[in-house]
Amino acid sequence: MAKLYFRYGAMGCGKTMQLLQVAFNYEERGHQVCVIKPNTDTKHGEHIYTRIGPERKTDFCFDKTTNLYEKITKEYQNVSCVLVDEAQFLTKKQVDELMKVTIDLDIPVMCYGLRLNFKREDGGFEGATRLLQIAHEITEIKTICECGKKATLNARFLNGQLVTTGPDILIDDGKTKIEYRAICPACYEKYQKGEK
Ligand SMILES: [Zn+2]
Repeated sequence: MAKLYFRYGAMGCGKTMQLLQVAFNYEERGHQVCVIKPNTDTKHGEHIYTRIGPERKTDFCFDKTTNLYEKITKEYQNVSCVLVDEAQFLTKKQVDELMKVTIDLDIPVMCYGLRLNFKREDGGFEGATRLLQIAHEITEIKTICECGKKATLNARFLNGQLVTTGPDILIDDGKTKIEYRAICPACYEKYQKGEK
C-alpha cells in the first residue's frame, strides 16, 4: 500500500536536496515522478533550488485553491511517486487530498517541509500540522545549530535581531535584511533575552 510521508526539518537541513535525490533515483530506474511546490515561494518561480547546487523545474506549482487529488488523477496517474516541496504551505484539505492519492491511486506521496513557523506556535503551518496528524510515516531530517547542538527551531532575524512576531510570510522590501536560521531552543532563548 502506498503511503503518505512527512519528512520535516529546520531550515537548511537539506530537505530539498533529499527530495531531488529521491526524484533522481526514481528517474534513473525509468520511473516518472511528479514534483510540485506551492506558489507561496515565488522567488524561484517554477524551479526548485538547493543551496548546494542541484535544481529542477517543478511539474506544477499550486495555490491554496488547487484540488491536488483531481489534478494528479487527471494528469499524473502514471507516476510512481509524488514529491512535494515546502509542504508546510499545503492547506489541511490538500493534505487530505494527498492522502486520498495514496489510497485511491496507490501512489506514494512524500512531503518535505518545516514542522513549525518562526513564532514556535502550534498551527503556524496548517500543512505541517495536518501532516503530523495523519501521515503514515514521519521522519526528521536533522541539522546543527551554530552552537553545535541539534537545531529544531526556525528563527527569523531582521537586521541581525531575532523577532518572534510579524506576518507568516514576509515580503522583502529591499531595505531590511531578512534571515532565517535553524537554531536550538537554548540559543533561541538566549537571542530572545539579548544574551547573544
Ligand atoms: Zn544552539
